[in-house]
Amino acid sequence: MAEQRQEQRDGRDAREDARTVGEPWGRGVRDEEARAWEQLVATARRTVTDGLVVGTSGNVSVRVGDTVLVTPSGVPYDRLTPDDVTGVDLDGRQVLGSLVPTSELPMHLAVYHSTGARAVVHTHAVHATAVSTLVPELPAVHYMSGALGGAVRVAPYATYGTEELAENMLHALADRTACLLQNHGTIAYGNTLDQAFDRTAQLEWMCHLWLTASSVPGLTPTLLSEEQVAEAGEKLRGYGQRG
Ligand SMILES: [Zn+2]
Repeated sequence: MAEQRQEQRDGRDAREDARTVGEPWGRGVRDEEARAWEQLVATARRTVTDGLVVGTSGNVSVRVGDTVLVTPSGVPYDRLTPDDVTGVDLDGRQVLGSLVPTSELPMHLAVYHSTGARAVVHTHAVHATAVSTLVPELPAVHYMSGALGGAVRVAPYATYGTEELAENMLHALADRTACLLQNHGTIAYGNTLDQAFDRTAQLEWMCHLWLTASSVPGLTPTLLSEEQVAEAGEKLRGYGQRG
């Protein structure tokens, strides 16, 4: 990993040379972006400590104005420092930092283009990924699906990092704030990093719950109706404001 970072540093040197011949590519980090970066790194570390991510297998982003700060590709989160701020514009052009942005950038940008999201969390959480290989939609075993907009869909498989995967994800996210990615993992968004993280954790928990309930021999879990989930969703929105 040290080697990779060195290569990336070298890459920055090359681009800085390019800047001197008239190809501006970067700019300074604004205060608001520096604060958002700290929160992004804390959230990314939490995905590991809470068991939602192993190694560098997930990624996190947060939008500040028209800049999207993202976790860089292949750098363990415990090694990220304030100097590693990595940011792109809404078209994916790098405007901050020298590390290579996550390979899942197309999914993150698609969410920002299509929703009012301010933060996105993507993981390979084990129970959620297991469910993504079994069903086209997570059965409504718990009313907390209401907090994600309804029964959580599974986006059909496509190679990681592709526009095709981003498109499949957008279809699955219609009227939802989270979905599963077949044979891959989870994606959730929110108004804040905490909200995107909490939705991811709730989704992983619900997937664990369904796997547990549906693995009892001879018994089948009771499911909630669409109306029951929607009613809980309404109530949960009010609960959030009182909390
Ligand atoms: Zn992934």
